[in-house]
Amino acid sequence: MSERKRIVIVGGVAGGASAAARARRLDENAEIIMFERGEYISFANCGLPYHIGGAIPKRDSLLVQTPERMAWRFGIDVRVNTEVIKIDRQRKEVISRDKKSGSEQATPYDYLILSPGAEPIKPAIPGIDHPRVFTLRNIPDMDAIKKVVDNEQPQHAVVVGGGYIGLEMAEALHERKIRVTLVELADQVFNVIDREMATPLHRQLRLHGVDLRLGVSLTNITGEGNGLKLDLSDNQSINTALVIMAIGVRPETKLAENAGLNLGPRGGIAVNEHMQTNDPAIYAVGDAVEVKSFIAGLDSLIPLAGPANRQGRIAADNIFGRNSVYKNTQGTAICKVFDLSVGMVGLSEKLLKKQKIAYEKVYTHPQSHAGYYPGAAAIRLKLLFDPTDGKILGAQAVGSDGVDKRIDVLAVAQRAGMTVYELQDLELSYAPPYGSAKDPVNYAGFVASNALNGDVQLAHVDQLPPGKNQILLDVRTLPEVQTGTIEGAMVIPLDELRGRLDELPKGKELIVFCKVGLRGYIACRLLSQRGYRCRNLSGGYTTYQDFFDLAAAEPEAPASICGAPVCTHPAADSTQIKPDQTIDARGLQCPGPIVQLKNAVDSLQVGQAVSIIASDPGFPPDVAAWCQSTGNQLADIKPEQGAVRALIIKSEAKALSTNMQPLSKNKTIVVFSGDFDKVMAAFIIASGAAAMGSHVTLFFTFWGLNALRKDNPPPVSKNLIEKMFGFMMPRGARKLTLSKMNMGGMGLTMIKGIMNKKNVTPLEELIENARKSGVRLVACSMSMDLMGIKKDEMIDGVEEGGVALYLQNAEQGNVNLFI
Ligand code: FAD
Repeated sequence: MSERKRIVIVGGVAGGASAAARARRLDENAEIIMFERGEYISFANCGLPYHIGGAIPKRDSLLVQTPERMAWRFGIDVRVNTEVIKIDRQRKEVISRDKKSGSEQATPYDYLILSPGAEPIKPAIPGIDHPRVFTLRNIPDMDAIKKVVDNEQPQHAVVVGGGYIGLEMAEALHERKIRVTLVELADQVFNVIDREMATPLHRQLRLHGVDLRLGVSLTNITGEGNGLKLDLSDNQSINTALVIMAIGVRPETKLAENAGLNLGPRGGIAVNEHMQTNDPAIYAVGDAVEVKSFIAGLDSLIPLAGPANRQGRIAADNIFGRNSVYKNTQGTAICKVFDLSVGMVGLSEKLLKKQKIAYEKVYTHPQSHAGYYPGAAAIRLKLLFDPTDGKILGAQAVGSDGVDKRIDVLAVAQRAGMTVYELQDLELSYAPPYGSAKDPVNYAGFVASNALNGDVQLAHVDQLPPGKNQILLDVRTLPEVQTGTIEGAMVIPLDELRGRLDELPKGKELIVFCKVGLRGYIACRLLSQRGYRCRNLSGGYTTYQDFFDLAAAEPEAPASICGAPVCTHPAADSTQIKPDQTIDARGLQCPGPIVQLKNAVDSLQVGQAVSIIASDPGFPPDVAAWCQSTGNQLADIKPEQGAVRALIIKSEAKALSTNMQPLSKNKTIVVFSGDFDKVMAAFIIASGAAAMGSHVTLFFTFWGLNALRKDNPPPVSKNLIEKMFGFMMPRGARKLTLSKMNMGGMGLTMIKGIMNKKNVTPLEELIENARKSGVRLVACSMSMDLMGIKKDEMIDGVEEGGVALYLQNAEQGNVNLFI
């Protein structure tokens, strides 16, 4: 019989209990002693918020294992309410203290496994120790919060921190009919993902009435009566009944540090691939240890249950002679935020950027399962990959259905070292209720591979606005455009594109976009084969909206609705309004719901109402924007069974505008003034508009004509008056003077000097550039005649035209300026 080993374990939950059970399975003969400071072992910390919220009704369900059962089944000496206070490495023993009696005891070990976890961070702000300020780590914490909720039925609570515990607690309290304010210092919740991917979470929180305060921190807590007054960094204060602090956790390393064990650069206990510390007899696992990230091997603290459990098992393996290796942490995580799930694996874009790791990305918005089968919902999926070999660096997904499955498949693919090319080949289970013949994971692989193969050039929302030689092209249908488009975009729906190619300027690069990227891709394939340079905006308008957080940025948005841009405030009592039509657009992606809405509204009388339910996560901002642009009234919008229901009343004011025409790209500017500064302004606006894809016409009349005169004109025949007039007026852009403070030319010289210093393009060059980028320069023929200016005196490229030409352009345009 082998020598009897004595294993001592500190911590009796995820990592500790796993290590203990594995040790027993490997060696029936070993002596295993597990110390746990608290009263409970092996409880489900991940389930704590759900018991508070009521989703897990029975408290006992969280107690996965009791000390008695563990002792009995595994033959483990479980010592609860006993804290290990010291490790004596020389003597190979731990000193523990019984929390009830206070007595201390030394326990020798052959091997020690530390799994003390991580403690909630409590920032040093005044009032933080008030009894109504809670953290949530274990069963007693949960009991304390639940007691207040059950007994007092508070009206309001504040959750500080938008990580997964904060988000889960916000939802749990909301389920208990408590109004919640969520305060988060960053500009997003669930900080492990990228900001644009968190935008749907912000909308979801607001949709459920959570008062979300981003970019704000808690600075002071004062007890007031039975509740609390909280001061925030934006000088606001909130009165509330209780606070949940959930701003993150810190590894519990004191015991290890005091024993002289090494810590890693991020402050966790340093271990090797066998989970062994710098003392060969001591192993450490779980939230307390520092790990390497699976991608790029970065030193990381990733406090998750899966890694803790696996590491506990690996530590036990190695103690009993098995060469078991921990193969780094991918950080695969998922969180429920009301009706949405958000999941991620690997590195985020912001981390890749910070670490200067080269990457490419694609955004896709596939349906969770076949669109024709009820319940399908769009998933926002972001895939990050190596631009040279296509290796998967990270993935993030948000949606109401199928997020877990896709993140898990991608996590497996990443662990297997697969590339985006190989995602195309994955054979994944499919029947309409579960997926699509091209699963979202296959689809992300197609899109990423197309980009790497050069089948399409990608543009990204963070590269907007477009450069001087780029033009935005929106290829969506008109009802979609009515929900908003990117400023300055030309609109040619994909199905009309072939017939309208002549409207596109050949010399410019086109940045094509649709709702999610698919029609943009088709358009790009068409255009590039027709000789146009183009890029497809990855993720389309949906990703654009998320990136710029358009809905949340709308100042008039009443928070009580959803943070979406609502055209009107909700009708006083929308519950009294009986809809004349009802649409079930669940499972339809944009433009489906909006097209159905438009058709319904078209068939209604003014004052009648339509109720529509849709599951597309982009629906709330879309319907709000559509109402705004069509003038119909968004009377109500609220969550319903995992979807969103909106009530729209057909409005008199702009009832006709549902038939909106494509956005005009024409801009006209009348240049009446011959002042240097005013002409400058005209050309700056014109050049900007042209760069954004507009057709610009500058109509020069009276004094403005002087800007177009040549410096050295050829001899032209003029009568005496014309000659005198010509002599008195400035000849060309270089001779124009300032409208104010010209001071005999001194002001002008000064301003030109400043312009030069600040690299502002001189007027002559601006004129030339504008001309080259297609700006039409039209000289008013009537004014030319009156002032005796001849065509030959004009710079190249100037057309002569009358008021009809100007009016025609102005009528077709959406901007008309007089300078
Ligand atoms: P723990 O499970 O925290 O166990 C450490 C134990 O050690 C504690 O019970 C502590 O009392 C004890 N201890 C510490 N020091 C001593 C000492 N000196 N002597 C004796 N005992 C000691 N992870 C996920 O992956 N998914 C989730 O959905 C998820 N949800 C969570 C929700 C909540 C509310 C919380 C708190 C955590 C959640 N986690 C989740 C994180 C997950 O629970 C942890 O990653 C995991 O429990 C870590 O395991 P561990 O063994 O390192 O630490």
